[in-house]
Amino acid sequence: MDYRTVLTTCTYCGCGCNLYLEVLDGEPIGTIPCKTSPVNQGKLCIKGWNVHEFIRNKNRLKKPLVKKDGELVEVEWEEAIDYTATRLREIKEANGPDSIGFLTSARVTNEENYLYQKFARAGVGTNNVDHCARL
Ligand code: SF4
Repeated sequence: MDYRTVLTTCTYCGCGCNLYLEVLDGEPIGTIPCKTSPVNQGKLCIKGWNVHEFIRNKNRLKKPLVKKDGELVEVEWEEAIDYTATRLREIKEANGPDSIGFLTSARVTNEENYLYQKFARAGVGTNNVDHCARL
């Protein structure tokens, strides 16, 4: 058996708590808080304690979904991006840019959030941008 711990950062929110993933034979099996991290000082919230569970979770989305005939269907990224761009253009032309809203996430990086709001404001032309931390 090959057991090791891997120092990493929790991906559930923007706090950036450090933790050790316990890995047994290549599979994540547990989480240990990092006591030397200045961010979380050996503590984790309930999400951080269970962060190892979603990595291999069978319900995790791995491909984009597009609704076709009322059903969500897995598609390739290129199709999902083409579909989204087409619909955004159609909705903006029909109803104006403020008919579109953008919701972003605490589970992505600051840089990704910055790009997202920039796309909303400069690309689409709306200030309708919000974030899951306020929902
Ligand atoms: S352990 Fe909790 S507070 Fe810390 S980064 Fe993860 S989700 Fe955020």
